Order: sequence, then structure tokens, then C-alpha cells
Amino acid sequence: MRKVYLDNAATTPISEEVLEAMIPIFKEYYGNPSSIHGEGRKVRNAIEHARKTVANYIGSSIGEIFFTSGGTESNNMAIKCAVRDLGVRRVITSKIEHHCILHTVEHLDPSVEVIQLDVDEKGRISFKELEKLLQDNTKKTLVSLMYANNEIGTLLGFEKISALCEEYGTYFHSDTVQAIGHFPIDVSKHKVHFLSGSAHKFHGPKGAGFIYINGDAKIKPMIDGGAQERNMRAGTENVYGIVGLAKALTLAIQNMEKRRQHIESLRSYFIEQLEENFVGIEFNGDYDGDYLYTVLSVSFPPNAKSDMMIMMLDINGIAASGGSACSSGAEQGSHVLAALNAPEDRKTVRFSFSHYNTKEEIDYVINRLGTILPAEIKKELVA
Ligand code: PLP
Repeated sequence: MRKVYLDNAATTPISEEVLEAMIPIFKEYYGNPSSIHGEGRKVRNAIEHARKTVANYIGSSIGEIFFTSGGTESNNMAIKCAVRDLGVRRVITSKIEHHCILHTVEHLDPSVEVIQLDVDEKGRISFKELEKLLQDNTKKTLVSLMYANNEIGTLLGFEKISALCEEYGTYFHSDTVQAIGHFPIDVSKHKVHFLSGSAHKFHGPKGAGFIYINGDAKIKPMIDGGAQERNMRAGTENVYGIVGLAKALTLAIQNMEKRRQHIESLRSYFIEQLEENFVGIEFNGDYDGDYLYTVLSVSFPPNAKSDMMIMMLDINGIAASGGSACSSGAEQGSHVLAALNAPEDRKTVRFSFSHYNTKEEIDYVINRLGTILPAEIKKELVA
């Protein structure tokens, strides 16, 4: 059976070149990077080379990049350590952040004020509201707002948020997990204190990520133990993951424009085909404004097959997800769609693309949707 993978916001397939870069590390780079002998130093050099690569691509200094196990750990670290070590007493975030942000702020000491900004029907925050909050500087504040939403693709306005935080002297953390490798991010131009990246979202390995910590934000480690990562993140380094992350980021940045054009054309074609073939199709988020081009959140009108769509797509070899796939395809209510006040009787399917997808695959998905969806929402039959 044909397989079409359209769940790239959940995770991406590892690229061949990344795998090739990692294999020698498995085979030959077995030393512990903390050891002072040659075998250890060889591995240490590979890690430092990867760090330099990441730093170069995001415009930071090398000493501001720390490798972690991924986006979840980086996001936890930024928020928990900012509260513990920087005297932050108020965290401003949004209702559409990833669970690793929302659950982290939920578990902060109750004395820390947490404000979750509302979003409009497209998932956009109000800059006026944010600015008004920032004008009150009685409590040291951390703003934690994502670059791009993983479920609906809306961009929250990284540059504008960065400028506001700078103007009001507020700490700024951005969950850039869905954006790294897809948009140019330069921390030397747009000030941010913490940002998070995860290799498996840009064709790198799972379980490897990084956190950028601005030199002005002096935090202590979240994980205690050895002196790895310059005393900032204990535990023997995931060297294969780190090397794979750097290779994947290099490929993503070097090919960004080419990949972007390809993905944008698939996404527009998909929108066009959905509208041409079915009635009542809508799209969630700021899908034709400021959007993450790898994501298209499609809202299908109420129909008899709603509850079975993800399963029926799967039976047809198509991987997509309902709501957020980070909870692994589980059909549970989405806090993001709830924040948009999306009608509950409509069915959302998130399709997310990579440069490996093709136009033929989109044609196949449209064709299969034609067999899955009931007659009343197909155009030829309505006419
Ligand atoms: N933040 C966002 C926006 C995500 O989409 C995800 C994963 O889906 C994460 C954080 C968590 O990243 P990781 O899977 O590397 O822990």
C-alpha cells in the first residue's frame, strides 16, 4: 500500500545525510567526552564542532548553546530556572503553548503569578494586551511565547514580542521548536533570553535538542550531576544525537529557501484541491496570513465520518493527526482549538509537510478523502 507521511509537525523522518554523519560516532567515537585521553578528546571535539555550528546558525556565541534531550527539556529548563535563579515572579504565556510549557507553568510555586494570554479566532495574541501587562513592572517577569504554533501553524510574532520585551526590560523565552530550521532566527538581531530547539523536527534524531541561554541570563542547571555542558546540564552527552542535530540544522538552513518554496507550493495546491473538491472546508489558524508553512490545519464540516477520519486516513496509508500529535494521535480534545473557540462539531485534521512530500502524494490524499468522506460534503455530488 502507498504510504504518505503528512505528520511532520509531530516528527520528521531522519535524512540520509544525517544518518551518515551519525554512523561514525556510533562506530568509532566511543570515548567519553569528559575523558582527557585521545579517545575522549576526539568526541569532545565533535560536540564542540556541533555547538559552533548551532551558534553560527542562530547568531549566538558558542558559550550560549547547551545540548539537551529536546524541546521539552529546554522549555522546562528555561521557565523553571528563570523562576528559581532570576527572581522571576510573573510568567506571561499564552493559551496555545505546547503542553510542556502549560504543564510547567501549572506546576510552578503558587506564589508565581501566571498569566495565559487569550488568542483571537486565528490564534493571534493581542500585542496591546501584552504591552499593557509589561507596563506594570512591579514583578520581575518572564514572557514565554512560542514562535509558531504546532497545531494550527499561527506565528505569534517573535520579532515584535522580542522588541516589546526589550523595551520593558522583561526576560523573553521562545519555544522555537517548530520554527528552527524553517525560518531564519538570529538572536543577535532580535533579543531573546532563552530559545529551544529539537532535532527531530528538522530531520534529525529524536532525543536531541538544545537551549540557547543569553549570556545576560545567569541560570543554574536544572539537572544536577557532573560538569558536562560547562556545568549547565549534567549527564554524559548524547553524542550521536548532537552530531546529528548539527548536521540536520546545517542542511535545513542551507536548503531553507528551496525547501520552503517546495513546501509552500504543496500547501497552496492542497488548499486549492480541498476547496475544489469538498464543501464547507475551513482552515484553522492564520493560514493565509502569518503562518508556519509546514502546517495546514483543516477543519471539515460536521459529517458522519468525523470520528473515524484519522483512522480511515491511516487505513489508506496516510499519516496525519487530529489536534496535537505530541500526545501521539490520541483523539483527545485540543486546548489550542478550544482557545480559538473552534466549533466542536467540526473535525480538525492537521496535515504537516516536509520537502520529501510530492504533488502526487497530495493528489492521492485528495483522492482518498473522496472515498472516505460522505457524499454530502463532496462537490460533484452536491452540484
Ligand atoms: N514545543 C513544540 C511547539 C512542539 O511542537 C514540541 C513537540 O511536538 C515540543 C515543544 C516538544 O519537543 P520534544 O519532542 O523535542 O520534546
